[in-house]
Amino acid sequence: MAKVTTMEELFLDEIRDLYDAERQLIKALPEMAEAASSDELRNVFEEHFEQTVNQVKRLEHIFQVLDEKPTGKKCAAMTALIKEGNDMVNAIDETAVRDAGLIAAAQKVEHYEISGYGSARAHAELLGDNRAVRLIEETLFEEKEADEKLNDLAISLINEEAADGSNGAAGPVGPKTRAAGGASRDEP
Ligand code: ZN
Ligand code: FE
Ligand code: FE
Ligand code: FE
Repeated sequence: MAKVTTMEELFLDEIRDLYDAERQLIKALPEMAEAASSDELRNVFEEHFEQTVNQVKRLEHIFQVLDEKPTGKKCAAMTALIKEGNDMVNAIDETAVRDAGLIAAAQKVEHYEISGYGSARAHAELLGDNRAVRLIEETLFEEKEADEKLNDLAISLINEEAADGSNGAAGPVGPKTRAAGGASRDEP
């Protein structure tokens, strides 16, 4: 990485990192949607994919305002988060458990983005770049919203699937998952 000496350079570096991270997600989100068994979860991924396309455009807008080329700088953290998620999904055969794992992987991604955009917003504010602040805030809102939807699904999906046992041919949700979901097999 080239030497960074000013806040302007740091901010540009952060935007480049986010740009690469979002572009990695444009490839990853459709795969996550495909891996999801629950329609609700798939919808969240598909909706967030559409938002992500817009988030890339917002970052391009910021590059334009800064009069810089829209180039990414490899976001190694996002590569690793996506790889961990993939490995995890491939290791789980049971559909309800896999959905729970997918949600956990996706929330790690959202938290990374919320952190990155949060810092970028603070730095844009410091630099007095109100245009960038506004663009970053729009994206930040979407990332937080996605995280909350995933949070809600983490609770409701497991409850549903533990309650009606509709998790398909792959077998029942394990006892630990049932207990975590609040349903009990001991009830009459
Ligand atoms: Zn991102
Ligand atoms: Fe994003
Ligand atoms: Fe990064
Ligand atoms: Fe996101």
